[in-house]
Amino acid sequence: MRETRPRIGKPRAFAVAPNLADYAAARARFSWDEARRALAGLPGGGLNIAHEAVDRHAASALRDRVAIRWLGKHGAVVDYTYGRLAAESNRFANALGALGVGKGDRLFALLPRLPALHLAALGAWKRGAVFCPLFSAFGPEPIRARMALGGARALVTTLALYRKKVAPIRDALPALEHVLLVDADGAAPPGTRALGPLFAAASDAFTIPPTDREDLALLHFTSGTTGAPKGAMHVHDAVVAHHATGRLALDLHDGDVFWCTADPGWVTGTSYGIIAPLACGVTLILDEAEFEAERWMAILERERVNVWYTAPTAIRMLMRAGVEVARGRDLRALRFLSSVGEPLNPEAVAWGVEAFGLPFHDNWWQTETGGIMIANFAAEEIRPGSMGRPLPGIDAAIVRRTDGGVEPIDEPDVEGELALAPGWPSMFRGYFGDPTRTARCFAGGWYLTGDLACRDRDGYFWFVGRADDVIKSAGHLIGPFEVESALLEHPAVAEAGVIGKPDPLAMEVVKAFVALKPGFAPTEELRRELIAFSRQRLGPAVAPREIAFSPSLPRTRSGKIMRRLLRARELGLPEGDVSTLEGRDDAA
Ligand code: AMP
Repeated sequence: MRETRPRIGKPRAFAVAPNLADYAAARARFSWDEARRALAGLPGGGLNIAHEAVDRHAASALRDRVAIRWLGKHGAVVDYTYGRLAAESNRFANALGALGVGKGDRLFALLPRLPALHLAALGAWKRGAVFCPLFSAFGPEPIRARMALGGARALVTTLALYRKKVAPIRDALPALEHVLLVDADGAAPPGTRALGPLFAAASDAFTIPPTDREDLALLHFTSGTTGAPKGAMHVHDAVVAHHATGRLALDLHDGDVFWCTADPGWVTGTSYGIIAPLACGVTLILDEAEFEAERWMAILERERVNVWYTAPTAIRMLMRAGVEVARGRDLRALRFLSSVGEPLNPEAVAWGVEAFGLPFHDNWWQTETGGIMIANFAAEEIRPGSMGRPLPGIDAAIVRRTDGGVEPIDEPDVEGELALAPGWPSMFRGYFGDPTRTARCFAGGWYLTGDLACRDRDGYFWFVGRADDVIKSAGHLIGPFEVESALLEHPAVAEAGVIGKPDPLAMEVVKAFVALKPGFAPTEELRRELIAFSRQRLGPAVAPREIAFSPSLPRTRSGKIMRRLLRARELGLPEGDVSTLEGRDDAA
């Protein structure tokens, strides 16, 4: 069936020859050792992300090239050359040093799209500290849970975000010693410090201490079906994959202007909003404001963006605005469009051709993989609706779980779980402090991604859905357990079950089913109160958009809420196997 969808053939001519000219040849030739040799390494041996991303360029002919062009939401435009970025991240590293923040300490960032984010990340890596980004649309509770889990020693944020989201939970974070405010001019609230004076007092010279390529560099938080969020650990060696995939999957070339629209609080914002473009020595655009179709098109035109990395929700929002938003603009600089985070519908690929004369190239990866694993490539045929084929250096398979482990499915077009052969440099090294959950991701020599997919006979992978109950809303992964736990804190709530309800724009929105405690009536007023209650705790990006009251929720005999059944009922789908449903005589 899938192979009958219209394909977009290999391009016949290129303005710039793609880095990956021939898929089979590139795979045959590729090795991670070779990819590592494309980087410099620290002068005394070892590997540090900040050296590869900035310092080696600052010491080369790229010194005066713009590394970051920041577009402020009130119209400011600020350029950071590689030379300036090296010096200012040195200052940041020295400021951290003055506070005693050093190797292995976790520095959290709760920041909008500001260059301070890049300085904090680079400064942390230079000192050997661990950079942990948070989503600024989170409410206090998800922030507290992640900082507690990661043992945050320091946080860098803004005054407004601190007041609204961190001050209310500060007492619950006894390990948090330092809060640095990037925008407080000396007048920082108690328990915080203005970064400005610290920064001004710090030297802009710094020598990166010895760094082993397996040293911890990043904690990226992600969600599972049950339990607390998980902190995926990534090491300095990940930069090898960021650099290689930046070149091969995003086709970054010397001199390019690159725009990644991802939020800095999620993994794409670090891997492709900071590390990959800088490691490739290109100019990255950092746009502070939120999505606005006309402004986005103006940025592509004015900044002469060559390579654009965005997400399906944004593309669907552009599609709503119509092809006219792109027409009439001079977008000749644009060469490569790509998308990640959710399934990219074939219509969106085709819309790219209509609006920009270029198709969107879908690619697939996740927090645990650290970098792009499966992609549609610039020089290769595109199968709209497919995520593409594994990168050179990546072996992917479709497997089925068996009693004793897993078994690869070799026949084409058969659905199973997407699995990857471990060993690429940006693979997570485990969930922080949680070896049990880490171990559950591996079986039979494979890393199991939790995604269902199939592979066609030519090796293109097609996304089918998640194997678990996590929700994807506007590209953000949301754990139902976290939302249910917040609802259960309300005095009226006896039970809560949370699902992803399909949505034409955001892919899914969070919907909660709630059973009330005796004495509470399912009124419209209570529904509104519960939405407001969860928005305040969780933040608007995570809180349920809809709440339905139900006298009781379906549970398994072992007491687990059957979200699958809630979802099937919501969508009018067959209920599937309900033999374990509590209260059924035939329950197993
Ligand atoms: P995250 O770890 O938050 O980056 O989310 C990763 C998950 O997003 C994957 O496991 C998939 O379920 C989904 N995802 C990412 N990229 C794609 C894609 N190109 N097509 C379909 N789903 C995707």
